[in-house]
Amino acid sequence: MNKLLIATNNKGKVIELQEILKDLNIQLVTPKDINLVLDVIEDGKDYQENAGKKALEFTQASGYISLADDSGLEVDALNSAPGLYSARYSPKPNATDKDRRMYLLENLKDKPKPWKAHFHATIAIATPNGDIEFAEGNCYGEIIPEERGTNGFGYDPIFLFPELGKTMAELDSEHKNRISHRALAMMNAMPILRKIFGNE
Ligand code: IMP
Repeated sequence: MNKLLIATNNKGKVIELQEILKDLNIQLVTPKDINLVLDVIEDGKDYQENAGKKALEFTQASGYISLADDSGLEVDALNSAPGLYSARYSPKPNATDKDRRMYLLENLKDKPKPWKAHFHATIAIATPNGDIEFAEGNCYGEIIPEERGTNGFGYDPIFLFPELGKTMAELDSEHKNRISHRALAMMNAMPILRKIFGNE
């Protein structure tokens, strides 16, 4: 069976991508499965550069076709911050996801509500011959000042879907994986996977 390396060390993302891709006839491999320790420096100027760099470096290091994503939270009232820097958005060294959520709320506290925001994901799929293809997805909602829910990771507990009355962290994984930015980007990436792997 064809193999696809999930090119990320983020456990939350590995779980989500495995869930989203589970019906494909492709064997998913994680860096851990093949004892690959690789930390790619995310110094690109946009999501596409970072995702492409991650996918390509993992492909070159492993020989596997690799799928990477680069994602972030963009808050309208903060001129789209934290955006590309979502994973590093805190003045604290060794900050946790919770520290980053608190820092975001601190920066938003004087801004008028609703705090409209969206998650963005760019997926890159790289093949060992050096080709890279991209797909994107966005998911819209708003930031709320109190944490709700325990599922997911990152900014999920403060990202509300007003029409559902639930935060991303209050959705079960099946629901999140139907509507999230990563799920939408994956849907848009399906034709690329089909082209690479044949009609899997
Ligand atoms: P990167 O794509 O590894 O640069 O990390 C993106 C960062 O954006 C994550 O570390 C989270 O802080 C945030 N993020 C991306 N996707 C999600 C999500 O689905 N839920 C919550 N936070 C997310």
